[in-house]
Formats: sequence, C-alpha cells, structure tokens
Amino acid sequence: MHYISTRGHAEAQTFCDILLGGLAPDGGLYLPDHYPQISAAELTAWRKLSYAELAYEVLRRFVTDIPPGDLLSIVKKTYTAQTYPYCRTGRRATDITPLTTLEPGLHLLELSNGPTLAFKDMAMQLLGNLFEYVLEKRGETINILGATSGDTGSAAEYAMRGKKGVRVFMLSPHGKMSAFQRAQMYSLQDANIFNIAVVGMFDDAQDIVKAVSNDAGFKARYKIGAVNSINWARIAAQVVYYFKGYFEATKSNDERVAFAVPSGNFGNICAGHIARMMGLPVERLVLATNENDVLDEFFKTGCYRPRATAETLVTSSPSMDISKASNFERFVFDLVGRDPAIVSRLWQAVDSGGSFDLAGTPHFQSLPGYAFVSGRSTHRDRIDTVRDAWQRYGVMIDTHTADGLKVAREYLQPAVPMIVLETAQAVKFSETIIEALGREPMRPADLEGIENLPQRVEVMAADVRAIKEYIARICG
Ligand SMILES: *Cc1c(COP(=O)(O)O)cnc(C)c1O
Repeated sequence: MHYISTRGHAEAQTFCDILLGGLAPDGGLYLPDHYPQISAAELTAWRKLSYAELAYEVLRRFVTDIPPGDLLSIVKKTYTAQTYPYCRTGRRATDITPLTTLEPGLHLLELSNGPTLAFKDMAMQLLGNLFEYVLEKRGETINILGATSGDTGSAAEYAMRGKKGVRVFMLSPHGKMSAFQRAQMYSLQDANIFNIAVVGMFDDAQDIVKAVSNDAGFKARYKIGAVNSINWARIAAQVVYYFKGYFEATKSNDERVAFAVPSGNFGNICAGHIARMMGLPVERLVLATNENDVLDEFFKTGCYRPRATAETLVTSSPSMDISKASNFERFVFDLVGRDPAIVSRLWQAVDSGGSFDLAGTPHFQSLPGYAFVSGRSTHRDRIDTVRDAWQRYGVMIDTHTADGLKVAREYLQPAVPMIVLETAQAVKFSETIIEALGREPMRPADLEGIENLPQRVEVMAADVRAIKEYIARICG
C-alpha cells in the first residue's frame, strides 16, 4: 500500500514514512493510492472479532510496512479494557466502543471511554504505540510540539506519556481551559511531558507553534514533530469503529446503517467515508456542525467558504469551533475523481484566504453518490437535546454528541438504524450540562478530585524566542 498526495507533486510513500510527518511536501494531504475492498465473506467473518482483532484486520490493509506479528501486538496492547475503562452505561468495557440503544433504530456508539474522555483517544493511543515502535526501529527521537484548547493536547499527552524517544511540549492558553481540562493535562508527572501555559489566547499559542515549525533549522536540530488532525494514522485508526458500530447495530450484512458525526476538522467523518468506500454497507453519513457551519454549507450548496478567525464563533461545543476543516481536502480529492490538478486549483483559492464553489459542476452532481447529508445545531438545540436525552433515556450526553443527535433526528429513516457517534463525555463540558440539567455531570470515580492533584506547568509569555530557548534547554 502506498500513499499519494492530494496535490499530486509528492513521491509515493509507505505508512511508516508518513507516520511521523504532517503535510506532503507539495502542501497536500496523504491518502492511500486505493481503498482496500472488503468482501462479503470477510465482512461476515469480522462480525465475531474483538475490537483489537478487528482493528488488526482493518489496519493491516493500510499498514504494509510493519511485520504482521508486530502490528498485531501493537494493536492488542492499545485496545484493552484498561486503556478504555470509563464506560458509564454499564456495558462491557471489553467492547472498547460499546453501543447503547436509545430507542429502537437510534443508537449511541460510545467512543469516549479512554483516558481523556473524548474520542480522540481512540486514534491517539494507537499513535503513541506506533510512534514508539517506529522510532525505536529507526533509532530516532521526536519532540512533539503542539497547541491545544483542550481535547487534542490532553489526548496527545496521555498517548505519549512515558513513551521512549518521545517528548511532548504542549502549549495551552493560560487560564482559559476549564478546571477539569487543566487538571487532566497539568497533573501528569511523566518526565517526557512538558505543559506550557502561554499568557494569551489559543491563537497566540497556535502562532508560536507555527513560528517554531517554520524555522527549518530549529525544527531539524530539535526534531520537532506534530500529531495534528491531518495525521493519516489517526484517520486509519478511526475507520475501525465504523465497522464495529455496524456489527453492533445489525444482525446481518444485508442491513444498511447511517452514522451521525459531530464534525469539526472532518477527521472523524472522513474515516466513515473511507469505511464506506471499503464496502461497509453505509446508507448515509450525517454530518453535524454547530454554529460554525462551513461544512454544512458545503454539503447543502456546493460552496466551501472557510471563515476568518474573527468570524469563528465561540460555542458550547468548542471542539467543533473551526474556521476551516483541515481534512476536507481528502474527501474533495475523491469527489473530483482523484484529480490532483483540480484539488491544487481549488486549494490555491482556499490557501490564499478564498473559497470555491462546485455548484453546477459535474463534481457537485456526483455528490449524492457519496451519501453525505448535513445539518447544524445551535446552543439552544444543544441544551434541549442534552435535556431530552437525559429525561427520555436517562443517558447524559455531552454538547458535541448533542449536536450529532439533534441532526441525526432530522435524517431518521425507517429500517435504517442510525448510529450517533459519541465524541466526548459530559463531564468535560460541565458548565453547559449544569445549564441544561441543573446538576453536575457524572464523572468516573477515579477522576473524582483530580483538580486537587499537584500540577506541573510552566507559565510563559507568548514569546517565540523564550519558548525556543525553553525547548533547546530541555533537549540539551
Ligand atoms: C475533535 C472533536 C470533534 C471534531 O472531530 P473532527 O474529527 O475534527 O471532525 C468533535 N467532538 C469532540 C468532543 C472533539 O474533541
């Protein structure tokens, strides 16, 4: 299996070659040169597999440069009940991603039972083990530099803590995250994790990461890397739970299902698109946005119009507050018949702050063939949906999952089970849960009181030079 760039001007690579990198050298995103096809017989056989076994079957189609035995042990080490212990619905933790039925034909796929209580743990934990494996094979090390407003940074730290050959420098906006989020990150005492609270906003932290990464000399000398949402291995890992959810919600492979996906950077739903391209019987992919509805607008009109930062709203589903969807280019590559010249042209406009409009083109006419539908949700909808799910089903959902459930309801079809992907647990967004339910969200017993643990964090000015000096000092 080889990986090609959506812009067509980068050499084909293998899985391990693109694992530690980001964008392709031509500015595009890597995708497999073809989608492996899963036969009906394989689909039947896969029904009986455990999560780890299923992950191995899916991933070995994409990872052809790690010996099968090694890949199997990496996957088995990752997908254990110990790593994903925080199941609240009383279902078996060994399922890793248990399915909860809300009402006949409407299900919740629990993807946030991992250490940081958000679905990003599903892929990030695998990434941690893959990084350690590949770095050791190559005798290399990496210093991951990132900026976070909450979910991604903590998922990365919990995945990389204690891993050989890896250090993590994570910038977060000083005083801007919730007490719970701060406690999750800053209470880590592992020697390879460095939390830096930047005096400023998230954008300031993000700008510092960009400035450091743009200094090619510094980047090479200190082996600076990233684990951002365009990382292909993260997408590949997410393909697995679409298969798992399908098997849980159906009895035979004659049935088709729909998935509703709370979306921001288009990573999660891109994995659903790929599962469908591999032959998973998916009737529809329901894309849900919040008020930052750049993707809903595209699927309704054909116009992709990334917003300016100033136009990006701060909402009560903050992990979906994006101005442009970094993985969207992967889907558009397929939509335009995998023609890199067209993608390059479209993103020439996007990269210079513009937009593109496919309305009236053959590409937009082919969109129904990809089974996407979309909708948006508002703060009012989230409050109503969180309350409704609690009153009707006794299930406490978070604000992002509420966006998914709200839009899912608009696309229910008889005889097509709808699977809503749960992207985080309510406790991460307690302010809004209290607004909706008048009570504190439930939290796992062993996370009780984490706000009182000692914290390890360096508060620093939003100053690129100071941060570079800090990294240089730690890395010697
Ligand atoms: C990251 C995140 C999302 C958005 O997922 P994408 O892959 O960026 O579309 C949704 N909900 C939560 C809780 C997240 O952390």
